[in-house]
Amino acid sequence: MSEMRAVLDRAREHAVAFLEGLDNRSVGATATADMLRTRLAAGLADRGIPPSRVIDEIVKATEGGHLGSAGGRFFAWVIGGALPSALAADWLVSTWDNNAVLYACGPASAVIEEIAGAWVKDLLGLPSEASFAFTTGCQMAHFTCLAAARNALLRQQSWDVERRGLTGAPRIRVLANQHRHGSVDRALRFLGFGTDALEPIAAGADARLPARALKDALQRGEAPAIVILNAADLNVGAVDPFSELVSMARATGAWVHVDGAFGLWARTSPLHRHKVAGIEEADSWATDAHKWLNTPKDIGIAIVKDREAHRAAMGITAAYISPNEEARDQIDWTPDWTRRARGIPVYAAVRELGREGIAAIVDRCCAHAEALATGIGGLKGARLVAPATLNQALVRFLDPKPNATEGEHDQFTLDMVAAINEEGTAFFSPGMWGYQRVMRISVVNWRTSVRDIQLTLDAVSRVLSRRHEQVFDKG
Ligand SMILES: *Cc1c(COP(=O)(O)O)cnc(C)c1O
Repeated sequence: MSEMRAVLDRAREHAVAFLEGLDNRSVGATATADMLRTRLAAGLADRGIPPSRVIDEIVKATEGGHLGSAGGRFFAWVIGGALPSALAADWLVSTWDNNAVLYACGPASAVIEEIAGAWVKDLLGLPSEASFAFTTGCQMAHFTCLAAARNALLRQQSWDVERRGLTGAPRIRVLANQHRHGSVDRALRFLGFGTDALEPIAAGADARLPARALKDALQRGEAPAIVILNAADLNVGAVDPFSELVSMARATGAWVHVDGAFGLWARTSPLHRHKVAGIEEADSWATDAHKWLNTPKDIGIAIVKDREAHRAAMGITAAYISPNEEARDQIDWTPDWTRRARGIPVYAAVRELGREGIAAIVDRCCAHAEALATGIGGLKGARLVAPATLNQALVRFLDPKPNATEGEHDQFTLDMVAAINEEGTAFFSPGMWGYQRVMRISVVNWRTSVRDIQLTLDAVSRVLSRRHEQVFDKG
Protein backbone atom coordinates (compact mmCIF):
# COMPACT_ATOMS: atom_id res chain seq x y z
CA MET A 1 0.00 0.00 0.00
CA SER A 2 2.88 2.39 0.62
CA GLU A 3 3.70 2.27 -3.10
CA MET A 4 0.11 3.24 -3.89
CA ARG A 5 0.29 6.10 -1.44
CA ALA A 6 3.62 7.25 -2.87
CA VAL A 7 2.44 7.33 -6.46
CA LEU A 8 -0.81 9.10 -5.64
CA ASP A 9 1.08 11.67 -3.59
CA ARG A 10 3.41 12.25 -6.55
CA ALA A 11 0.47 12.66 -8.91
CA ARG A 12 -1.17 15.12 -6.52
CA GLU A 13 2.03 17.15 -6.28
CA HIS A 14 2.35 17.29 -10.06
CA ALA A 15 -1.32 18.23 -10.39
CA VAL A 16 -1.04 21.07 -7.92
CA ALA A 17 2.16 22.34 -9.54
CA PHE A 18 0.47 22.28 -12.94
CA LEU A 19 -2.61 24.14 -11.75
CA GLU A 20 -0.60 26.72 -9.79
CA GLY A 21 1.60 27.31 -12.81
CA LEU A 22 -1.28 27.91 -15.22
CA ASP A 23 -1.20 31.66 -14.76
CA ASN A 24 2.47 32.04 -15.57
CA ARG A 25 3.05 29.44 -18.25
CA SER A 26 2.49 29.91 -21.98
CA VAL A 27 -1.15 29.02 -22.73
CA GLY A 28 -0.08 27.52 -26.05
CA ALA A 29 2.12 24.43 -26.24
CA THR A 30 5.85 25.05 -26.43
CA ALA A 31 6.96 21.51 -27.26
CA THR A 32 6.81 20.30 -30.87
CA ALA A 33 5.42 16.93 -31.94
CA ASP A 34 8.96 15.73 -32.67
CA MET A 35 10.19 16.72 -29.23
CA LEU A 36 7.28 14.94 -27.58
CA ARG A 37 7.72 11.82 -29.69
CA THR A 38 11.43 11.63 -28.97
CA ARG A 39 10.89 12.01 -25.24
CA LEU A 40 7.98 9.57 -25.04
CA ALA A 41 8.68 6.76 -27.49
CA ALA A 42 11.69 5.30 -25.69
CA GLY A 43 9.64 3.84 -22.83
CA LEU A 44 8.76 0.37 -24.13
CA ALA A 45 11.13 -1.96 -22.26
CA ASP A 46 11.38 -5.57 -21.12
CA ARG A 47 11.54 -4.53 -17.50
CA GLY A 48 9.05 -2.20 -15.91
CA ILE A 49 9.85 0.66 -13.53
CA PRO A 50 8.35 1.75 -10.20
CA PRO A 51 4.97 3.54 -10.40
CA SER A 52 6.20 6.86 -9.00
CA ARG A 53 8.93 6.98 -11.60
CA VAL A 54 6.39 6.30 -14.35
CA ILE A 55 4.40 9.31 -13.22
CA ASP A 56 7.46 11.56 -12.84
CA GLU A 57 8.70 10.61 -16.29
CA ILE A 58 5.34 11.13 -17.99
CA VAL A 59 5.10 14.58 -16.46
CA LYS A 60 8.66 15.42 -17.48
CA ALA A 61 8.30 14.09 -21.00
CA THR A 62 5.06 15.96 -21.68
CA GLU A 63 6.38 19.29 -20.36
CA GLY A 64 5.30 22.06 -22.74
CA GLY A 65 2.95 19.70 -24.55
CA HIS A 66 -0.24 20.57 -22.69
CA LEU A 67 -2.37 23.52 -23.72
CA GLY A 68 -3.42 25.73 -20.84
CA SER A 69 -7.09 25.13 -21.50
CA ALA A 70 -7.61 24.58 -17.78
CA GLY A 71 -6.61 28.22 -17.22
CA GLY A 72 -8.42 31.52 -17.56
CA ARG A 73 -6.97 32.81 -20.84
CA PHE A 74 -7.86 30.02 -23.22
CA PHE A 75 -10.50 31.20 -25.71
CA ALA A 76 -10.17 28.69 -28.55
CA TRP A 77 -12.91 26.34 -29.79
CA VAL A 78 -15.42 25.76 -26.95
CA ILE A 79 -13.44 24.11 -24.17
CA GLY A 80 -14.17 24.54 -20.48
CA GLY A 81 -11.94 23.95 -17.45
CA ALA A 82 -12.56 21.78 -14.41
CA LEU A 83 -13.98 23.13 -11.15
CA PRO A 84 -12.08 22.04 -8.01
CA SER A 85 -14.72 19.65 -6.67
CA ALA A 86 -15.43 18.22 -10.13
CA LEU A 87 -11.74 17.53 -10.73
CA ALA A 88 -11.34 15.91 -7.31
CA ALA A 89 -14.53 13.88 -7.79
CA ASP A 90 -13.17 12.70 -11.15
CA TRP A 91 -10.04 11.40 -9.37
CA LEU A 92 -12.29 9.49 -7.01
CA VAL A 93 -14.32 8.02 -9.87
CA SER A 94 -11.07 6.51 -11.17
CA THR A 95 -10.14 5.43 -7.65
CA TRP A 96 -13.40 3.64 -6.92
CA ASP A 97 -13.16 2.20 -10.44
CA ASN A 98 -16.65 0.71 -10.46
CA ASN A 99 -18.25 -0.10 -13.78
CA ALA A 100 -21.14 2.35 -13.76
CA VAL A 101 -23.30 0.30 -16.07
CA LEU A 102 -25.63 -1.49 -13.67
CA TYR A 103 -26.77 -0.78 -10.15
CA ALA A 104 -25.31 -4.20 -9.32
CA CYS A 105 -21.83 -3.14 -10.52
CA GLY A 106 -21.80 0.20 -8.73
CA PRO A 107 -24.69 0.99 -6.41
CA ALA A 108 -23.48 4.44 -5.32
CA SER A 109 -22.67 5.40 -8.93
CA ALA A 110 -26.15 4.38 -10.08
CA VAL A 111 -27.85 6.42 -7.37
CA ILE A 112 -25.64 9.49 -7.75
CA GLU A 113 -26.18 9.50 -11.54
CA GLU A 114 -29.91 9.15 -11.02
CA ILE A 115 -29.86 12.24 -8.81
CA ALA A 116 -27.43 14.20 -11.01
CA GLY A 117 -29.63 13.53 -14.06
CA ALA A 118 -32.70 14.81 -12.25
CA TRP A 119 -30.79 17.91 -11.12
CA VAL A 120 -29.60 18.69 -14.65
CA LYS A 121 -33.17 18.54 -16.00
CA ASP A 122 -34.29 20.79 -13.17
CA LEU A 123 -31.46 23.29 -13.70
CA LEU A 124 -32.08 23.43 -17.45
CA GLY A 125 -35.85 23.71 -17.01
CA LEU A 126 -36.54 20.56 -19.04
CA PRO A 127 -39.42 18.12 -18.38
CA SER A 128 -38.79 16.13 -15.20
CA GLU A 129 -40.30 12.99 -16.78
CA ALA A 130 -37.72 12.99 -19.59
CA SER A 131 -35.07 10.26 -19.61
CA PHE A 132 -31.37 11.04 -19.66
CA ALA A 133 -27.95 9.51 -20.17
CA PHE A 134 -24.44 10.61 -19.26
CA THR A 135 -22.37 10.08 -22.40
CA THR A 136 -18.76 10.83 -23.34
CA GLY A 137 -19.73 14.17 -24.86
CA CYS A 138 -22.30 16.01 -26.91
CA GLN A 139 -21.29 13.92 -29.92
CA MET A 140 -22.55 10.74 -28.30
CA ALA A 141 -25.47 12.61 -26.77
CA HIS A 142 -26.55 13.45 -30.34
CA PHE A 143 -26.13 9.81 -31.24
CA THR A 144 -28.26 8.72 -28.28
CA CYS A 145 -31.02 11.27 -28.85
CA LEU A 146 -31.18 10.66 -32.60
CA ALA A 147 -31.30 6.91 -32.06
CA ALA A 148 -34.40 7.53 -29.95
CA ALA A 149 -35.82 9.79 -32.69
CA ARG A 150 -35.18 7.10 -35.29
CA ASN A 151 -36.93 4.52 -33.14
CA ALA A 152 -39.98 6.71 -32.50
CA LEU A 153 -40.52 8.01 -36.04
CA LEU A 154 -40.20 4.54 -37.55
CA ARG A 155 -42.33 2.92 -34.87
CA GLN A 156 -45.11 5.32 -35.93
CA GLN A 157 -44.79 3.74 -39.37
CA SER A 158 -44.94 0.23 -37.91
CA TRP A 159 -41.23 -0.32 -38.54
CA ASP A 160 -39.19 -1.78 -35.68
CA VAL A 161 -35.78 -0.34 -36.52
CA GLU A 162 -34.05 -2.06 -33.61
CA ARG A 163 -34.88 -5.42 -35.18
CA ARG A 164 -35.07 -4.67 -38.88
CA GLY A 165 -32.46 -1.93 -39.24
CA LEU A 166 -32.68 0.85 -41.80
CA THR A 167 -32.41 -1.23 -44.97
CA GLY A 168 -35.79 -1.02 -46.64
CA ALA A 169 -37.18 1.24 -43.91
CA PRO A 170 -39.50 4.16 -44.66
CA ARG A 171 -37.56 7.36 -45.32
CA ILE A 172 -36.92 9.90 -42.61
CA ARG A 173 -35.91 13.42 -43.55
CA VAL A 174 -33.37 15.29 -41.47
CA LEU A 175 -33.62 19.08 -41.55
CA ALA A 176 -30.97 21.16 -39.83
CA ASN A 177 -29.73 24.70 -39.54
CA GLN A 178 -26.90 25.11 -42.07
CA HIS A 179 -24.67 26.25 -39.17
CA ARG A 180 -24.98 22.93 -37.34
CA HIS A 181 -21.97 21.41 -35.59
CA GLY A 182 -20.06 18.65 -37.41
CA SER A 183 -20.94 16.19 -34.65
CA VAL A 184 -24.55 16.20 -35.92
CA ASP A 185 -23.46 14.96 -39.33
CA ARG A 186 -21.30 12.33 -37.70
CA ALA A 187 -24.14 11.08 -35.50
CA LEU A 188 -26.23 10.67 -38.65
CA ARG A 189 -23.45 8.59 -40.16
CA PHE A 190 -23.15 6.39 -37.08
CA LEU A 191 -26.91 5.82 -37.14
CA GLY A 192 -27.01 4.71 -40.76
CA PHE A 193 -28.93 7.71 -42.06
CA GLY A 194 -25.86 8.92 -43.89
CA THR A 195 -25.12 12.58 -44.45
CA ASP A 196 -27.15 12.56 -47.68
CA ALA A 197 -30.27 12.39 -45.50
CA LEU A 198 -29.43 15.87 -44.28
CA GLU A 199 -31.25 18.84 -45.78
CA PRO A 200 -29.44 21.96 -44.56
CA ILE A 201 -31.71 24.97 -44.20
CA ALA A 202 -30.30 28.40 -44.99
CA ALA A 203 -30.12 30.60 -41.92
CA GLY A 204 -30.43 34.36 -41.85
CA ALA A 205 -27.44 36.70 -41.61
CA ASP A 206 -27.71 36.31 -37.83
CA ALA A 207 -27.20 32.52 -38.23
CA ARG A 208 -30.71 31.78 -36.88
CA LEU A 209 -33.30 29.81 -38.82
CA PRO A 210 -36.13 31.99 -40.05
CA ALA A 211 -39.57 30.44 -39.37
CA ARG A 212 -40.45 30.83 -43.03
CA ALA A 213 -37.45 28.77 -44.15
CA LEU A 214 -38.29 25.90 -41.81
CA LYS A 215 -41.93 25.99 -42.85
CA ASP A 216 -41.00 25.76 -46.54
CA ALA A 217 -38.56 22.94 -45.85
CA LEU A 218 -41.14 20.98 -43.85
CA GLN A 219 -43.66 21.37 -46.66
CA ARG A 220 -41.24 20.18 -49.33
CA GLY A 221 -41.59 16.51 -48.37
CA GLU A 222 -44.06 13.98 -47.04
CA ALA A 223 -41.74 11.81 -44.99
CA PRO A 224 -41.56 12.35 -41.23
CA ALA A 225 -38.72 14.60 -40.21
CA ILE A 226 -36.13 15.12 -37.55
CA VAL A 227 -35.50 18.84 -37.16
CA ILE A 228 -32.18 19.82 -35.59
CA LEU A 229 -31.87 23.28 -34.06
CA ASN A 230 -29.04 25.21 -32.40
CA ALA A 231 -28.56 26.54 -28.90
CA ALA A 232 -26.10 27.91 -29.70
CA ASP A 233 -23.94 27.78 -32.82
CA LEU A 234 -20.24 27.67 -32.12
CA ASN A 235 -19.21 30.73 -34.13
CA VAL A 236 -21.50 33.53 -33.09
CA GLY A 237 -23.54 31.90 -30.32
CA ALA A 238 -26.73 32.20 -32.39
CA VAL A 239 -29.80 30.61 -30.82
CA ASP A 240 -32.65 29.49 -33.05
CA PRO A 241 -36.05 31.06 -32.29
CA PHE A 242 -37.44 28.03 -30.49
CA SER A 243 -40.79 29.49 -29.48
CA GLU A 244 -41.76 29.81 -33.13
CA LEU A 245 -39.92 26.88 -34.65
CA VAL A 246 -40.58 24.04 -32.23
CA SER A 247 -44.37 24.18 -32.26
CA MET A 248 -44.39 24.57 -36.04
CA ALA A 249 -42.21 21.50 -36.52
CA ARG A 250 -44.04 19.38 -33.96
CA ALA A 251 -47.37 20.22 -35.57
CA THR A 252 -46.17 18.30 -38.65
CA GLY A 253 -45.22 15.29 -36.51
CA ALA A 254 -41.51 16.11 -36.63
CA TRP A 255 -39.10 15.23 -33.83
CA VAL A 256 -37.21 18.32 -32.72
CA HIS A 257 -33.68 17.76 -31.48
CA VAL A 258 -31.57 20.54 -29.96
CA ASP A 259 -27.79 20.86 -30.12
CA GLY A 260 -27.36 22.65 -26.82
CA ALA A 261 -23.73 21.67 -26.21
CA PHE A 262 -23.09 24.85 -24.26
CA GLY A 263 -26.01 27.19 -25.01
CA LEU A 264 -28.56 25.11 -23.12
CA TRP A 265 -26.88 26.32 -19.91
CA ALA A 266 -28.12 29.85 -20.66
CA ARG A 267 -31.35 28.43 -19.17
CA THR A 268 -29.74 28.71 -15.74
CA SER A 269 -29.23 32.48 -15.98
CA PRO A 270 -32.05 34.95 -15.23
CA LEU A 271 -30.10 37.41 -17.40
CA HIS A 272 -29.86 35.23 -20.49
CA ARG A 273 -32.60 32.62 -20.28
CA HIS A 274 -35.04 34.61 -22.42
CA LYS A 275 -32.70 33.93 -25.37
CA VAL A 276 -33.45 30.21 -25.18
CA ALA A 277 -37.16 30.47 -24.38
CA GLY A 278 -39.33 27.72 -25.81
CA ILE A 279 -36.49 25.21 -25.94
CA GLU A 280 -38.28 23.02 -23.38
CA GLU A 281 -40.90 22.15 -25.99
CA ALA A 282 -38.41 20.11 -28.06
CA ASP A 283 -38.23 16.28 -28.06
CA SER A 284 -34.57 15.78 -27.23
CA TRP A 285 -31.60 17.81 -26.07
CA ALA A 286 -27.88 17.09 -26.29
CA THR A 287 -25.53 19.04 -24.07
CA ASP A 288 -22.20 18.91 -22.28
CA ALA A 289 -21.14 19.09 -18.68
CA HIS A 290 -17.52 19.52 -19.75
CA LYS A 291 -18.16 22.91 -21.32
CA TRP A 292 -20.21 25.43 -19.35
CA LEU A 293 -20.68 23.36 -16.21
CA ASN A 294 -16.88 23.03 -16.08
CA THR A 295 -16.48 19.38 -15.21
CA PRO A 296 -13.42 17.53 -16.51
CA LYS A 297 -13.67 16.26 -20.12
CA ASP A 298 -15.60 13.21 -21.19
CA ILE A 299 -19.05 14.18 -19.91
CA GLY A 300 -22.01 14.87 -22.18
CA ILE A 301 -25.71 14.58 -21.43
CA ALA A 302 -28.57 13.29 -23.58
CA ILE A 303 -32.13 14.12 -22.51
CA VAL A 304 -35.16 12.60 -24.24
CA LYS A 305 -38.83 13.38 -23.70
CA ASP A 306 -40.03 10.00 -25.07
CA ARG A 307 -38.53 7.67 -22.47
CA GLU A 308 -39.81 4.56 -24.19
CA ALA A 309 -38.13 5.45 -27.48
CA HIS A 310 -34.88 6.19 -25.66
CA ARG A 311 -34.98 2.92 -23.80
CA ALA A 312 -35.96 0.94 -26.88
CA ALA A 313 -33.01 2.42 -28.77
CA MET A 314 -30.36 1.85 -26.08
CA GLY A 315 -31.70 -0.78 -23.69
CA ILE A 316 -30.49 -4.33 -23.45
CA THR A 317 -31.62 -7.64 -22.09
CA ALA A 318 -29.10 -10.39 -21.61
CA ALA A 319 -29.29 -13.60 -19.64
CA TYR A 320 -26.61 -12.57 -17.20
CA ILE A 321 -28.12 -9.17 -16.48
CA SER A 322 -30.83 -9.27 -13.90
CA PRO A 323 -32.88 -6.11 -14.11
CA ASN A 324 -33.21 -4.53 -10.71
CA GLU A 325 -35.98 -2.58 -9.12
CA GLU A 326 -33.62 -0.82 -6.75
CA ALA A 327 -32.23 1.88 -9.02
CA ARG A 328 -31.70 2.87 -12.61
CA ASP A 329 -29.38 0.70 -14.69
CA GLN A 330 -27.36 3.07 -16.89
CA ILE A 331 -26.95 0.47 -19.63
CA ASP A 332 -30.60 0.93 -20.59
CA TRP A 333 -29.91 4.53 -21.58
CA THR A 334 -26.29 4.87 -22.72
CA PRO A 335 -24.46 3.49 -25.74
CA ASP A 336 -21.57 2.24 -23.54
CA TRP A 337 -21.28 -1.01 -21.69
CA THR A 338 -18.33 -0.57 -19.38
CA ARG A 339 -18.23 3.07 -18.40
CA ARG A 340 -16.97 5.46 -15.73
CA ALA A 341 -19.47 7.16 -13.46
CA ARG A 342 -19.66 10.40 -15.38
CA GLY A 343 -22.51 11.69 -13.26
CA ILE A 344 -20.29 11.98 -10.18
CA PRO A 345 -18.28 15.05 -11.28
CA VAL A 346 -21.59 16.55 -12.45
CA TYR A 347 -23.06 16.00 -9.00
CA ALA A 348 -19.97 17.61 -7.45
CA ALA A 349 -20.03 20.66 -9.76
CA VAL A 350 -23.70 21.30 -9.04
CA ARG A 351 -23.11 21.02 -5.29
CA GLU A 352 -20.10 23.35 -5.43
CA LEU A 353 -21.85 26.04 -7.44
CA GLY A 354 -25.52 25.85 -6.55
CA ARG A 355 -28.05 27.40 -8.93
CA GLU A 356 -26.61 30.85 -8.39
CA GLY A 357 -23.05 29.79 -9.00
CA ILE A 358 -23.90 28.15 -12.32
CA ALA A 359 -25.80 31.24 -13.46
CA ALA A 360 -22.86 33.39 -12.34
CA ILE A 361 -20.43 31.46 -14.55
CA VAL A 362 -22.74 31.88 -17.54
CA ASP A 363 -23.16 35.61 -16.88
CA ARG A 364 -19.46 36.15 -16.30
CA CYS A 365 -18.43 34.28 -19.47
CA CYS A 366 -20.92 36.28 -21.58
CA ALA A 367 -19.67 39.57 -20.12
CA HIS A 368 -16.04 38.56 -20.70
CA ALA A 369 -16.79 37.53 -24.30
CA GLU A 370 -18.39 40.89 -24.89
CA ALA A 371 -15.41 42.72 -23.36
CA LEU A 372 -12.95 40.77 -25.52
CA ALA A 373 -15.02 41.27 -28.67
CA THR A 374 -15.44 45.00 -28.27
CA GLY A 375 -11.92 45.44 -26.88
CA ILE A 376 -10.19 43.58 -29.72
CA GLY A 377 -12.69 44.75 -32.34
CA GLY A 378 -11.99 48.34 -31.32
CA LEU A 379 -8.21 48.12 -31.81
CA LYS A 380 -6.86 50.05 -34.77
CA GLY A 381 -6.53 47.54 -37.59
CA ALA A 382 -9.05 45.06 -36.14
CA ARG A 383 -12.73 44.66 -36.80
CA LEU A 384 -15.62 43.23 -34.85
CA VAL A 385 -17.28 40.72 -37.20
CA ALA A 386 -19.93 39.35 -34.83
CA PRO A 387 -20.59 40.77 -31.37
CA ALA A 388 -21.19 38.34 -28.52
CA THR A 389 -24.74 36.97 -28.42
CA LEU A 390 -23.86 34.71 -25.53
CA ASN A 391 -20.24 33.72 -24.97
CA GLN A 392 -19.03 33.48 -28.58
CA ALA A 393 -17.88 36.31 -30.85
CA LEU A 394 -15.78 36.86 -33.97
CA VAL A 395 -13.13 39.43 -34.86
CA ARG A 396 -10.89 39.96 -37.85
CA PHE A 397 -7.55 41.68 -38.39
CA LEU A 398 -6.83 43.84 -41.42
CA ASP A 399 -3.60 43.88 -43.37
CA PRO A 400 -2.43 47.50 -43.00
CA LYS A 401 -0.89 47.62 -46.52
CA PRO A 402 -2.65 50.19 -48.70
CA ASN A 403 -5.30 48.56 -50.90
CA ALA A 404 -4.93 45.17 -49.23
CA THR A 405 -7.35 42.59 -50.63
CA GLU A 406 -9.81 40.45 -48.67
CA GLY A 407 -7.46 37.53 -49.25
CA GLU A 408 -4.62 39.50 -47.65
CA HIS A 409 -6.84 40.37 -44.68
CA ASP A 410 -7.61 36.64 -44.40
CA GLN A 411 -3.90 35.82 -44.31
CA PHE A 412 -3.19 38.65 -41.88
CA THR A 413 -5.92 37.31 -39.58
CA LEU A 414 -4.46 33.80 -39.64
CA ASP A 415 -0.97 35.20 -38.99
CA MET A 416 -2.33 37.24 -36.07
CA VAL A 417 -3.95 34.19 -34.45
CA ALA A 418 -0.65 32.31 -34.78
CA ALA A 419 1.33 35.26 -33.41
CA ILE A 420 -1.00 35.75 -30.43
CA ASN A 421 -0.81 32.05 -29.58
CA GLU A 422 2.96 32.10 -29.95
CA GLU A 423 3.22 35.07 -27.59
CA GLY A 424 1.71 32.84 -24.92
CA THR A 425 -0.52 35.11 -22.81
CA ALA A 426 -3.74 33.84 -24.38
CA PHE A 427 -4.89 31.31 -26.92
CA PHE A 428 -7.48 31.64 -29.70
CA SER A 429 -8.56 29.59 -32.71
CA PRO A 430 -9.15 30.74 -36.28
CA GLY A 431 -12.43 30.15 -38.07
CA MET A 432 -14.38 30.91 -41.22
CA TRP A 433 -17.47 33.08 -41.25
CA GLY A 434 -19.15 33.47 -44.60
CA TYR A 435 -16.19 33.92 -46.91
CA GLN A 436 -13.97 35.52 -44.31
CA ARG A 437 -11.24 34.25 -42.07
CA VAL A 438 -11.90 35.27 -38.50
CA MET A 439 -10.53 34.80 -35.02
CA ARG A 440 -13.04 33.12 -32.74
CA ILE A 441 -13.60 34.21 -29.17
CA SER A 442 -15.11 31.65 -26.83
CA VAL A 443 -15.30 32.07 -23.06
CA VAL A 444 -16.46 29.02 -21.08
CA ASN A 445 -14.04 28.72 -18.21
CA TRP A 446 -15.03 29.36 -14.58
CA ARG A 447 -11.54 30.76 -13.92
CA THR A 448 -11.56 33.58 -16.46
CA SER A 449 -11.36 36.86 -14.55
CA VAL A 450 -11.47 40.57 -15.39
CA ARG A 451 -7.69 40.54 -15.00
CA ASP A 452 -7.40 37.73 -17.55
CA ILE A 453 -9.40 39.80 -20.01
CA GLN A 454 -7.19 42.84 -19.42
CA LEU A 455 -3.97 40.82 -19.80
CA THR A 456 -5.36 39.32 -23.02
CA LEU A 457 -6.38 42.69 -24.48
CA ASP A 458 -2.92 44.08 -23.68
CA ALA A 459 -1.24 41.08 -25.31
CA VAL A 460 -3.37 41.22 -28.47
CA SER A 461 -2.75 44.95 -28.77
CA ARG A 462 1.01 44.41 -28.38
CA VAL A 463 1.13 41.65 -30.97
CA LEU A 464 -0.93 43.71 -33.43
CA SER A 465 1.33 46.77 -33.09
CA ARG A 466 4.38 44.62 -33.62
CA ARG A 467 2.92 43.12 -36.80
CA HIS A 468 1.99 46.55 -38.11
CA GLU A 469 5.58 47.65 -37.58
CA GLN A 470 6.85 44.54 -39.39
CA VAL A 471 4.59 45.20 -42.38
CA PHE A 472 5.83 48.79 -42.70
CA ASP A 473 9.47 47.83 -42.14
CA LYS A 474 9.20 45.41 -45.05
CA GLY A 475 7.24 47.88 -47.18
C1 LIG B 1 -18.52 21.03 -28.61
C2 LIG B 1 -19.76 20.99 -29.41
C3 LIG B 1 -20.29 19.78 -29.86
C4 LIG B 1 -19.57 18.46 -29.66
O1 LIG B 1 -19.53 18.17 -28.31
P1 LIG B 1 -18.47 17.13 -27.71
O2 LIG B 1 -18.71 17.22 -26.25
O3 LIG B 1 -17.13 17.64 -28.11
O4 LIG B 1 -18.77 15.80 -28.26
C5 LIG B 1 -21.49 19.82 -30.52
N1 LIG B 1 -22.13 20.98 -30.76
C6 LIG B 1 -21.64 22.18 -30.35
C7 LIG B 1 -22.41 23.41 -30.62
C8 LIG B 1 -20.43 22.22 -29.66
O5 LIG B 1 -19.94 23.40 -29.24
